[in-house]
Amino acid sequence: MFSKILIANRGEIALRVLRACKELGIQTVAVHSSADQDAMHVRLADESVCIGPPPSRESYLNIHQIVAACEITGADAVHPGYGFLSENAKFADILEAHGLTFIGPTAEHIRLMGDKITAKKTAEQLGIPVVPGSEGEITTDEEAKKVADEIGYPVIIKATAGGGGRGMKVAHNADELSIALATARSEAGAAFGNEAVYIEKYLAKPRHIEIQVMGDGEGNAVHLGERDCSLQRRHQKVWEEANSPSLNSAQRSEIGEICAAAMRKMKYRGAGTVEFLYENGEFYFIEMNTRLQVEHPVTEAITGIDLVHEQIRVASGGGLSVTQKDIRFSGHAIECRINAEDPRTFVPSPGTITHYHPPGGLGVRVDSGVYQGYKIPPYYDSLIGKLIVHGRNRVECMMRLRRSLDEFVVDGINTTIPLFRDLLANPDIANGDYDIHWLEKFLARKD
Ligand code: ADP
Repeated sequence: MFSKILIANRGEIALRVLRACKELGIQTVAVHSSADQDAMHVRLADESVCIGPPPSRESYLNIHQIVAACEITGADAVHPGYGFLSENAKFADILEAHGLTFIGPTAEHIRLMGDKITAKKTAEQLGIPVVPGSEGEITTDEEAKKVADEIGYPVIIKATAGGGGRGMKVAHNADELSIALATARSEAGAAFGNEAVYIEKYLAKPRHIEIQVMGDGEGNAVHLGERDCSLQRRHQKVWEEANSPSLNSAQRSEIGEICAAAMRKMKYRGAGTVEFLYENGEFYFIEMNTRLQVEHPVTEAITGIDLVHEQIRVASGGGLSVTQKDIRFSGHAIECRINAEDPRTFVPSPGTITHYHPPGGLGVRVDSGVYQGYKIPPYYDSLIGKLIVHGRNRVECMMRLRRSLDEFVVDGINTTIPLFRDLLANPDIANGDYDIHWLEKFLARKD
């Protein structure tokens, strides 16, 4: 087992990883930018190192500084959290070259899945159903038109290096196609430094359903069920739940086993998420994330398994603590992403939290690094916490969520808490009857 882990992240996820390390008796090192010196994970870590000024590229993305911090403190492994360097294969390679363990998959697997065209091909070879679309990169209008004619309109053009819901363009007919292709290519080039795009059938009313997997790197792997992340704004998740209101246990086992088998074949190591769109009873792979996800706590709530413990175990060569038959799904969990944003316009709202009182009680978990008097810096994403609520069934979970939101006090800044209160009052949400476009329509109606 590792003796000291450096946490290469900030905010709620840095604290989340720190908690797991403490439970496992592992020393922690926090790294932070000069804007984050008052952050909770910095205060609670055994040691901390300032790795640069506020901009991420000079601090949280600064590989050189992070490796230096490992050397100064004697850390033997790095947990990257999500975002920042968590899916950076070069970072994994560099750590390895310095004799440090990257708590995540191999650099090779990160590269494979980081390129979405390759990821889709790999998924298909591993027996995972994929969205119909182009075989590979599309560069000319003629190629695009040929593929679109075959699969039928509407189609979506996506960046192979895409992420965070960026670099996607929908075309409803041949006229829109060439403009969509040109804009998608130039946007992808500007955002990701890679113009390569591909085409997929644009599904009209899918749900976003993803499968949590965990592998030991030796050919053993399990799935931990699904998360339904269909409530999205601008392709970004806002509310996640497990189990999905639209799957039964036979469907869950079937798709879960397909993913676990694929991970066994790959000899995948660590936590991963296989993302699908789900429509008319069919699953269509869209991408795989080779890291811990923001919404992992809903899976922890219904399985009782600490995914960060598992990641650390596997990275240290200790293997998985569970086999598939040990994994049981109990009750229902929902996560609300609490952002420091206006609940209507989603304009970021950095500033000082003047009063803070998180909800508590049975089945309520708040993952957040904020506290009363904490000043939210304007440099990073606006997620300031996550409220995760568990109940024996969906009705109980929603009941508990409603009262938790009423209890939650965050004064001094705007947050998305009022949005979740509105969602809970909506009959479609109560019935679990929503697809990936539902939230955008709901927000448009409310304006
Ligand atoms: P990113 O890596 O940027 O998050 P994804 O491929 O995971 O991109 O897609 C993000 C979201 O975009 C999906 O959850 C879904 O809402 C939408 N989307 C992606 N592909 C399609 C598609 N083929 N049809 C309809 N919606 C799509």
